[in-house]
Amino acid sequence: MTAKTILLTDHRSRRPAPVVPGVPIAPSGRLADTRGRPLHDLRISVTDRCNFRCVYCMPKEVFGKDYPYLPHDALLSFEEIVRLARLFVAHGVEKIRLTGGEPLLRKNIEALIAQLAELRTPAGQPLDLTLTTNASLLARKARALADAGLRRVTVSLDALDDTVFRRMNDVDFPVADVLRGIDAAAEAGLGPIKVNMVVKKGVNDDQIESMAEYFRHSGHTLRFIEYMDVGASNGWKMDEVLPSADVLRRIGARWPLETLQPHYAGEVAQRWRYRDGAGEIGVISSVTQAFCSSCTRARLSTEGQLYLCLFADQGYDLRALLRGGASDADLATAIAHIWHGRTDNYSERRSADTPRAGRIEMSYIGG
Ligand code: SAM
Ligand code: SF4
Ligand code: SF4
Repeated sequence: MTAKTILLTDHRSRRPAPVVPGVPIAPSGRLADTRGRPLHDLRISVTDRCNFRCVYCMPKEVFGKDYPYLPHDALLSFEEIVRLARLFVAHGVEKIRLTGGEPLLRKNIEALIAQLAELRTPAGQPLDLTLTTNASLLARKARALADAGLRRVTVSLDALDDTVFRRMNDVDFPVADVLRGIDAAAEAGLGPIKVNMVVKKGVNDDQIESMAEYFRHSGHTLRFIEYMDVGASNGWKMDEVLPSADVLRRIGARWPLETLQPHYAGEVAQRWRYRDGAGEIGVISSVTQAFCSSCTRARLSTEGQLYLCLFADQGYDLRALLRGGASDADLATAIAHIWHGRTDNYSERRSADTPRAGRIEMSYIGG
């Protein structure tokens, strides 16, 4: 049988539509790539805009007033997102994370959450449906998000000291409002809450101990993320990365730690707990300890490009298929075909001088 060509109606599409092999691949709930890695998580970016200008993600010099954000009609509609999500779930995705940009800036995001919350895995289970946010709008929205069916949130917070935090978000946003958002989310039942701190050496590494102290006994899990060379605009240098081993050494010197087993195979964060029973922390060592061999994540960009790696420079234009009249069977076949061919393992190959031009930005694809 020959491969089908789907007619494109969207002339802004920069890449050809993915090939839909002539032999349909029906979803079996199990897909494996070339290294046997299953497709388990889907991250969906719902906007490329953000009200913060974090220095490691959307530096002001690049993301200024004239930055060409996507026009509204380029964004996947909620209908299109849900249609794709349903097919990904049929293929084995059990966890969906909404991200961005700042996902709470997407108008009526609760309506999207309500529709995603209705999806069921092939075994009839609801999804692990979560969202990553800078929490600027969380105090206002937590209740509505929980009512819509969101299970949990992850909040990004890089410092407890207001001056350091305002310098990092670069829009003068105060720590107190993020902490209020975290409290509101906990009250609304969106826990256990994870708090992500990106550690940039010389910028906020002096905040490690105070952040740890604040979240001890809180029931929230603080996770330290190594500053990564995502995108092409943050001017990343290896010597600005503080290895997770150093973070653990510093915290452990004050509050002894012990390791915990992962919740599931392929969990990104390594889990630790305080020996005195004050709770759990995590480290995400994307730079110093590659975890590509167990990477089960696919990423859908705001405009419907499917990326198989955070460091990819090329996606697969699912929107072109959607808007070109592809059937569900065609879409499911294309997704399976793409995942079957996946070879990505960037973090295993990273070196300080790997070229970065052309790489997708974190704000476009989400974390
Ligand atoms: N705006 C939301 C937020 O900040 O939580 C969601 C999108 S943001 C791109 C997702 C996550 O990526 C955040 O936790 C952020 O700290 C992290 N991130 C962004 N750029 C990063 C980088 N260069 N290295 C490591 N983590 C990064
Ligand atoms: Fe915005 Fe999140 Fe990027 Fe910060 S990390 S600029 S909050 S998208
Ligand atoms: Fe996954 Fe790519 Fe990160 Fe490796 S570098 S863990 S393949 S996203």
